[in-house]
Amino acid sequence: MEQKLKVLIVDDDEVDRMAVRRSLLKAGVEIELSEVSDGNSAIAAFPENSYDCVLLDYLLPDQDGLTLTRKIRSLGIKVPIVVLTAQGDEQIAVELMKAGATDYLSKSRLSPEILARVLRNAIRVYRAEMEVEKAHQQLQESNNLLTRKNKELERQQQQIELQNIKLVEGSRLKSQFLGTMSHELRTPMNAIIGFSQLLLRHKCGALSHQQKDLMERILNNSKKLLMLLNEILDFSKLEVGQLDVKPGIFDLSKVVNATVVEIRSLAEQKNLSLQVQMNLENPIVFNDSTRVKQILMNLLSNALKFTESGGIAIEVKELSENKVAIAVCDTGIGIAPTNIKSIFEAFWQVEQDTNRKYSGTGLGLPIVNALVQMMGGKITVKSQLNEGSIFLIELPRQVVPVSQNRERVLNGTDIYKKKVLESVGSSQFPSGRRMPRDEE
Ligand code: ADP
Repeated sequence: MEQKLKVLIVDDDEVDRMAVRRSLLKAGVEIELSEVSDGNSAIAAFPENSYDCVLLDYLLPDQDGLTLTRKIRSLGIKVPIVVLTAQGDEQIAVELMKAGATDYLSKSRLSPEILARVLRNAIRVYRAEMEVEKAHQQLQESNNLLTRKNKELERQQQQIELQNIKLVEGSRLKSQFLGTMSHELRTPMNAIIGFSQLLLRHKCGALSHQQKDLMERILNNSKKLLMLLNEILDFSKLEVGQLDVKPGIFDLSKVVNATVVEIRSLAEQKNLSLQVQMNLENPIVFNDSTRVKQILMNLLSNALKFTESGGIAIEVKELSENKVAIAVCDTGIGIAPTNIKSIFEAFWQVEQDTNRKYSGTGLGLPIVNALVQMMGGKITVKSQLNEGSIFLIELPRQVVPVSQNRERVLNGTDIYKKKVLESVGSSQFPSGRRMPRDEE
């Protein structure tokens, strides 16, 4: 059933109003009519009533239909307006539509059917327009909301970038501090080692048995400390992309044997066997002998540290003409499968609390891993809890020159520079002290 329409007729002519009323009745439109005879009364009627349509005579005593239409629209009154004109004037019609009228109708064409059709059309069109406007408003609101959210996201992103710069800067300072400190500490440590060795070689007179024993302890502990310092120094270099490999030709079997000699006394102290199996047809390689020794020393120290009974075996062999492999096997405590992937993370240790049984920095394996990668090799681990572990290193017989590898594998300084420059949008790189280089 059609809803009863509330219509306002604005016309000063009583006869014309009656004609409109009759036409609407005849057309069978369910209607609730209100009538006023001038423009000001029409405007006064709006605040208290809401109409479905206004039928507006163009010629009113106080103003014309165009002026009144403009006023109604300027007041923001939302209602369909059909203007009834005395004669068909196309120019007036155009102006009326521009001013916000919904339709117009010449009084000479007024018939029940036409009036009812124009009225319903005007209401339908107006409602459709309102729907469009509402949708438009909603879109506008969503748009505003999105813009606000976008701005908020941009602000958060800026904050994150700022935090990032601070973090990167903090990390750089930390690496710089670690590098400087370990470098500074190495000098007195080397002096202690040197002087202890002098004393042990009786260069300053013979030592009593007890003095010799004490001096050996000083020497061993100093060597341990030096190794820790070297690890920290290497790690700080690794972080800023300054860890390097300087290749040269050397005999791999000699380096392996020399490393084993250095560590043998420690194995003996723990009653552990230490065996070397050298299966190399051609022991000559092109690599950094100091770094290879460092890798081996690290793996052997770990093997000794984490083994209480049994022993350690080292096997060196050729995998192919261009590839050699070094395996370090122990019968120690082993590593749980869930921990294997973590052991190459910096500072990671199975025992993390301060009461831990095994000493160490948790930096050895990350450095070993980085070095092996810089050499173009790979490291794999097989381990079983309470059974032991095997660390296998595969290396090319001839490593790619360091500078190329460094670009490829580690370039922390450049990454840092890039991050800072991207964040601040500047071409100036903040000045800072260079990491001291290791003096071998
Ligand atoms: P750390 O200075 O603690 O030895 P590493 O980076 O060399 O640091 O090793 C990280 C951790 O990996 C060790 O703390 C230990 O938990 C585990 N791990 C390394 N090597 C062995 C091994 N041969 N046997 C058992 N656990 C090992």
